[in-house]
Amino acid sequence: MIRFDNVTKRYDKIAVVSDFNLEINEGEFFVLIGPSGSGKTTTLKMINKLILLSEGYLYIDDGKISEYDIQELRWNIGYVLQQIALFPNMTVEENITIVPEMMKWSKEDMKDRVTELLASVDLDPETYRKRQISELSGGEQQRIGVIRALAANPDIILMDEPFGALDPITRNSLQQDVLKLQRKFKKTVVFVTHDMQEAIQLGDRICVMNQGKIEQVGTADEILKHPANDFVKEFLRTGLPHYDGEKTVQTLLDKEFYTTEELSYDETMSAETSLDDLTLALARFEAIKVETAKSPVYITKDHLIHYYAHEIQGENTGRKEVEA
Ligand code: ADP
Ligand code: MG
Repeated sequence: MIRFDNVTKRYDKIAVVSDFNLEINEGEFFVLIGPSGSGKTTTLKMINKLILLSEGYLYIDDGKISEYDIQELRWNIGYVLQQIALFPNMTVEENITIVPEMMKWSKEDMKDRVTELLASVDLDPETYRKRQISELSGGEQQRIGVIRALAANPDIILMDEPFGALDPITRNSLQQDVLKLQRKFKKTVVFVTHDMQEAIQLGDRICVMNQGKIEQVGTADEILKHPANDFVKEFLRTGLPHYDGEKTVQTLLDKEFYTTEELSYDETMSAETSLDDLTLALARFEAIKVETAKSPVYITKDHLIHYYAHEIQGENTGRKEVEA
């Protein structure tokens, strides 16, 4: 659907996005995440040619974007920004129909589309269509920003930190709306954020960027369980309050939840096996064997339960200390 083939963007001689290779699938909710200045906005704006690339190729539906008519390209790509880019002295309806108007839709089609879109984000069409933008709350305005991007039924929606300026409750409800809309209208969404929790909540896949380069691409699960390098690990640690790295069988060994006494066992695991897999195994079996550098050790159901109890107690202690 959208493919970056060795794309580089330079300002003067400095590459702000370099050798970027990436494929975003049709209908995918794709999140670009990274610290400020990592090249997220630049990457996004190259897709709709608001920024021209310096080297490489960018394809949409197998066509090079350099060969697309810019007008058509923009009509087929919705765009939502953080700073609400609505026209304050126009009505909601007028704002939503800007692109359909340019595309010369009939009055009737535009009216129906506004009704459908307002209803899809739980804004009563008859109450809201004639309101001025300046009469709406920040959250309502950003809802209009989102449905305006959908108005002319583009295949692709680009969103650049659209909810960054909203309070957490409004933000959460808009995240839910956007997910619902994306599933309902089956759009390809490229969503920029610097918030890891938002990325995990929304992304089918997440691309972690740093200094114009890709550090890792994968599902939230893959990235959380197998961060590709120290940068990604550190990014997770600072971005997620409860993240403390991937837990494995080794975690239990470190805390001495095992026995060296030989037991009958049902499965053999390595110290690198994930804690999830260990838990699944011990839900079915009584004991598993772990080969270690020294001698084999055994972990039982009992060890695992005591390990979890230890974790819960540890957390409780932590919380009490904070309160005191
Ligand atoms: P992000 O969106 O991840 O915060 P950007 O894509 O906006 O990052 O910017 C990436 C880098 O490119 C930054 O270092 C920024 O200063 C630089 N940059 C952006 N626009 C320009 C420009 N017009 N001229 C020179 N450098 C720019
Ligand atoms: Mg940016």
